[in-house]
This record gives sequence, C-alpha cells and structure tokens, in this order.
Amino acid sequence: MALPVEEWRLYAARRWASLEPPLRERLAAASLPETLRLGCGLLRPEADAAALRRLCRRTRVGKEPAAARFYREEGNRLFGRRQYAAALRLYSQAASHELPGSPEVAVCFANRSAALFHLGHFEVCLEDIARAESHGYPDRLLPKVLLRKVECLLCLGRLQDAADTLSMVENKITMDGKVTSPAHQTLLKKLSQLKIKLHEKESHPEPAQEACGDNQTQLEIWEENDSISGASSSLSLDFDIERGRHLVASQDIGPGQSLLKEEAFVSVLCPGESLLLQDSSGTAWDTRVTNADLYCHHCLRQLLASLPCRGCSYAKYCSQNCADVAWERYHRTECSLGALLLTLGVFCHVALRTVLLAGFAEVGRLVEWSHDGDKVLEAPDTRADNRGIPGCNNNGQYQSCYQAVFNLLPHTEKHSPEHKFLCMLSVVAICKQLQEAGLEAAVLNQEPSEKLSKPKTCEKTSGELSPELKTVAEAMLRHVLQLQCNAQAITVMQELGSGDGAVVKKKPVRLATAFFPVLSLLNHSCCPNTSVSFSGTAATVRASQPIPSGQEIFHCYGPHRCRMKVAERQQLLSQYFFECHCQACLDELQSDVSVVSMRNSFCCPSCQSPMQGEDMLCCSNEVCAISVSRENLSRRLQDLERQIKEALELLRDRKADQAIQMLLKCQVDAGNFLSPEHLLMGEMEDHLAQVYATLGKWQEAARHLERSIEIVEMHHGPSSVETGHELLKLAQILFNGFAVSKALSTIQRAEEILSVHCGPQSTQIQELQEMKACLSELPRSILQRT
Ligand SMILES: [Zn+2]
Ligand SMILES: [Zn+2]
Ligand SMILES: [Zn+2]
Ligand SMILES: [Zn+2]
Repeated sequence: MALPVEEWRLYAARRWASLEPPLRERLAAASLPETLRLGCGLLRPEADAAALRRLCRRTRVGKEPAAARFYREEGNRLFGRRQYAAALRLYSQAASHELPGSPEVAVCFANRSAALFHLGHFEVCLEDIARAESHGYPDRLLPKVLLRKVECLLCLGRLQDAADTLSMVENKITMDGKVTSPAHQTLLKKLSQLKIKLHEKESHPEPAQEACGDNQTQLEIWEENDSISGASSSLSLDFDIERGRHLVASQDIGPGQSLLKEEAFVSVLCPGESLLLQDSSGTAWDTRVTNADLYCHHCLRQLLASLPCRGCSYAKYCSQNCADVAWERYHRTECSLGALLLTLGVFCHVALRTVLLAGFAEVGRLVEWSHDGDKVLEAPDTRADNRGIPGCNNNGQYQSCYQAVFNLLPHTEKHSPEHKFLCMLSVVAICKQLQEAGLEAAVLNQEPSEKLSKPKTCEKTSGELSPELKTVAEAMLRHVLQLQCNAQAITVMQELGSGDGAVVKKKPVRLATAFFPVLSLLNHSCCPNTSVSFSGTAATVRASQPIPSGQEIFHCYGPHRCRMKVAERQQLLSQYFFECHCQACLDELQSDVSVVSMRNSFCCPSCQSPMQGEDMLCCSNEVCAISVSRENLSRRLQDLERQIKEALELLRDRKADQAIQMLLKCQVDAGNFLSPEHLLMGEMEDHLAQVYATLGKWQEAARHLERSIEIVEMHHGPSSVETGHELLKLAQILFNGFAVSKALSTIQRAEEILSVHCGPQSTQIQELQEMKACLSELPRSILQRT
C-alpha cells in the first residue's frame, strides 16, 4: 500500500532492465537533481503513461450514478431489516456517488437521517435533515422528514423548536391536502401522535440532566521546550555522527510524563484494500467498509455521517469545515488525480501533499538551497546551542515545519537503483498528469491569470515538464525516499465485528502515513522507553518507564523485542539502513536466547517437557528421548490456526455453542505440542472469553480472559500497553457481570497502566472512569453482596 501496485512495480523493473547499461550506471550513482534530469524523459508518453492509465482504470474514484443507485437500494433493503448501522454506511456510499445539489443526494441524506434517528444520533440526524433540505429535497416528500425532525427535537428536549416545526408541518400537510391517499393518512396519524407527545413533555418537564461522574479530568503538567517545538522542556536535542540527531532527557522523567505532542506536518489516510481490488467488470459494487468510509479524509476522526467531496467519490469528510480546508490546501489539486494516487501508493501521495502544503515558494527555496553543496550532512561545530544541527533555524530552534521535513535524511545513496528508478518514474508520472490536467497553476500557488501571462509554461505541448514542475518533482522524489525511513504510521484501535457482544473486540490498525519531523528525531530501540498514542492527526509520546537524566529517548519503529526474534528484527530494520545495537539486541545476540523463542516454543507430545533443537527437535527430558521434525510441528501449528479460524467463523454466524466446542477441542490439541506460555494458548483463551461474553456468561468469560492476561503479561510485561488493553476488556466483562469489587480493582489496574501509555484524557481512561462512576452509584445492597 505504501509502494505502487505490484503491476507498476514489475513494469518499472522491466523498464529498468531494458535501459542501456551506461545509463543504468549513471542513474545508480546519480544525486537527486541528477536522477531527475536523466529520468524526466524516460517516462514515454505512448507506452509507459498508457500502461499506467490502464492500471488506474481499475480504481473507481469518480461519481457514478449507477453505483449510487445500487448503494441506495442496498441501504433501503438493510433498513427494512432494521440493520440501521449497515444501512447508514450504504447511504453514505450512495451520497458519495451523487452530484452535489441534486435531488438524489438530498434523498440519500434524508434516508440516512432515518437510520441515524433509529440509532439514537439525534443531533447528527438533524444535521442530515438540514442537508436534505438545502440540497433540494422534493417538496412533496418533505412533511415526512419534518415530522422526523420534530421527533428528534422532542428526544433532545428542545420543546419550543419542536412546537414550531410541528405547526409548520401541520400547515403544510393541510395545504397539500390529498385527504384520501393512504400516505396522507399516515402522516396525519403521526402528526397527532407527536402533538400528544409534545403536550406530555410540556406538562412534565424532565429535570435537567447532570453531567455524569465527578469530572476529575487530571490536567497534565506540560512545559514546552524553548528550542524544540512540541517537545517537553525536560528534553534536549543532541547530535553525533553515530546516532545522528537524537533527543536526551535533560532531567529525571517519571513514567506517563508527556515528552512530545506533535501535529503531523502532513498525513494521508491509507485506503482500504478493497478500493484497489474491485474487479473491472463494473457489475458488482463493493459493500465492504474501508478506511475511507470510516475516517475523515482530512482530520482522521471517525465518521458517523460523512460528507462527500463535491468532485470525487473517495474523499469523505466529518464536517463541511474539513471539506473546505482540505479543498483549499490540497484536495483541489488531488481530487481528479485519485486513481493515479491510489495506484502509485501512499508514499507518492504523501510526497505530493507535502509539497502542496509547503507551497511552491518554500519548496523552490529549499530545493535550490540543497543544490549549494551538501551541507545537510555536515557535523555541527561544538557550539553550546543547536545552531548548525541540521533542520534547525538560525536561532538554533527546531520547529515542525517544511524545512525540518526537508532535512530528514533521504539516504539517496543507500536505496537500490531499481527502487530509485521506480520512485522517479512514479513521481514524474504525477507531475506530467498535473501538467496535462491544467493543475500546474494550482501547484505553483499562482492565480490562473498569472499563468496566462507566462506562455512559457502553458504552451508546452511536447510533454516535457516545466522547470517549476521539475523542482516539484525533485522535492517529491526526495520525500518518497525519506518516507522509507521516516514515515510514521498513525494507528488506532479499531472495533471489530458488529459489537453485539457487550465486550468490544479491538485491534490496532494502520490508519494513515505521516511526517512528524519532531517525532522523527527519536531513534529506534527494540525495548523503547516510550509509548506513542494518536488522536486524529496528533501524536503524543509518553515515558513508559522512569528515564534518568542523560538517557536517550527511544521509540520503537515496529520490531519490538516481545514480538520478534533478533534476526527478524534486524531484517526488518535493514529498510531503515541501520543495524540495531539496542540493549535487547546486544543481549540476544550474545546469549542466543530470545524472549520470543523461549515463550513460543514447542513441548514434547509425550511428556510435555520443552523441545530443543533446530530442524530436528528433541525432548529435553533425557528419559523420554522423543524427537520430532520442526516441519511436522509447524504443520500441526498451521492446522491448529486453521481450526481456530473456523471456530471464529462459527461465532460470526452466531453459532456460539459450536464455536465453544471447537475452541475447547483446539485447546486440548494445542496442549499436546505447544508450550503452556505459547501466545496462541493465550489467544484461544481470549477467543473463548469473547464467545462466552456474547452469550452473557460473564463468569466463564472472566475466567478465560484472566488466563489470557497471564500469558500476555509473560510476553509483553505486566505494565505493557497490551496488558492494559486486556485488563480493560476484563473490566468490561466484570462490569457487565456485576462483579463489583473485582471490577473496581481491575479498573484501578487498567487505569494505572493505560494512563501511562495513552494519557489521562484517552478514550480508554474515559471508558474506565465511566464504569467506575456507574459502579459507585449502585445501591449499597448490591455492593455488599459481592
Ligand atoms: Zn474531519
Ligand atoms: Zn475530491
Ligand atoms: Zn534492537
Ligand atoms: Zn518428552
């Protein structure tokens, strides 16, 4: 997803292989400007651009009335079956394919407002009704929608507004007056019902609702660093040849303390897989949900009732404000390029958006500056302040800005020449497309009239890029190469399944790819001393353990020592062009024993003692002397994983009893050849807990989850974020099962752990506090029973 689609990668590889060897050699050794100068002419319009266009055709990003009709009918069908959440999503899909201001899009909003009403989202329902009205909802259908508005207002306790709307509808219905039609009769009946309801509410006003819980929002202590934007004052910026730029604790830091709070310089929502996998037949429309349906294209907040872009079907927003800001800053350029950007991958997309956000003046200034010798890599002299550290301004300050992004290392000489060629070809394709689509003025931040006075750029018909676009292409190429080492994934815990069990299953998903120039100052460790969490496009880094003054601040780029063995980690880290020398790697390389292999090991099928060895494993118990091939054990493991998957499918089909039987059988099988601490043993316990929770058997669910937690603790540590998430789940189960005192102590533990990793304002902590408040309000009689 980060890189272009496979077909384009293979195409570029073939092109590279067919180049004359001297040209290949020159490209392999070329600097960034040189690569571009040599490469610009290599994208042949007749062959290469056409091949790319064919690939783009598979991706649907335009507005298609046929799709709109399909999604709306599908939505109506599910609405009829009372599957309101699914219907809501389909109406949003339908709306994204209708033209703005059309009666059809108004119908989509009106239908969606009905789904929202049934789901209890009254405020949002009102917004959709207003949208339906403003987009020209057919007048004869209006009374029905307005009656829904009255109902909403009543639910929200806005009685005066409800009364006003009610009398307006009444007038309208009387004036329309086809008294005989059944639809009219239904309206009148509804109208009189609502009148009664309004009257009741007016005579028995509800007491104003008090805010629940004792709003103990803890304020975090935060003092910002004078010279590094977004960093705490307890950090300082350092530089040496071996470690490059890095951050160090300038005083003792306690666990949970915020160290960085940074807004992404740029972020691009990762598309869901299915946007790319649609078949080209055009008959079957995809109803699966993707990131693009779930999160705002601009601010990454979760979407309930999305607003589609006026020009395309793939950009969806949480609000008109986000739609307007995105359009102004980048989307007016990107809108028509959707298919190309999806085909060429997120890195190219981030690169384009980065230059659009920076503005051409700044891009041009820095590209030119980079041509005056490579002062970027020069080591600073030994001055006391940060002046001379790359990316810092003349006052020695490091700010989250385009200059800081520009100074992230592109490692031009370390990428393979084929990879550089692929990136170059892709970037040039985007710039050519910009030129052909007449978007050059928008990219260069010129008014269209300015462009007319510059015949140099607009009379180009040869397909050659203008000098300005070459500058843009060079900056973009730099950013694509930088992203390999500096891309930061924005992740969220996404809820899985329909959530009809009271315990929500969540897993972390990659939501977007972003540049965080300050966060990028942190080096990697496989056992980091920080945790990163995200809210929208903002990242917060917190100390996950005490950090003494003088110690370097580390964060984990992905390969954590609890998830992978040292060899796998080093393999993964090679994409960042470095060998990890963190304490975990040093220890493991020396002792040859990793946390992962120790716990994810096999046991003897006969006597359950640990098995040892590489290809042929022997029982460690000398009397037993059984040996089994690794291949055999791996096959059994795969078999087991397949059966677990089947059990989960049974659960999805609401065959909970069968799912339990199957999982229990899997557990027995697994006990014969997996060590009791094996992660899979924990996962099975977790699944069992989930199934029992859907059945409302809270005690059984809690029992299984407690065992799962023991294993998670062994792998990730008792104060890890993973353990925190498991404890949150346990708290939900105990809460639902009214196991009050146990629930309260679990909430306490989960709160302690999660506030360190996610902060006191996170949704997880809020959820825990709501449970606590609720439990403390229970009558004493119940509390004493438990
Ligand atoms: Zn938004
Ligand atoms: Zn658009
Ligand atoms: Zn390491
Ligand atoms: Zn044995």
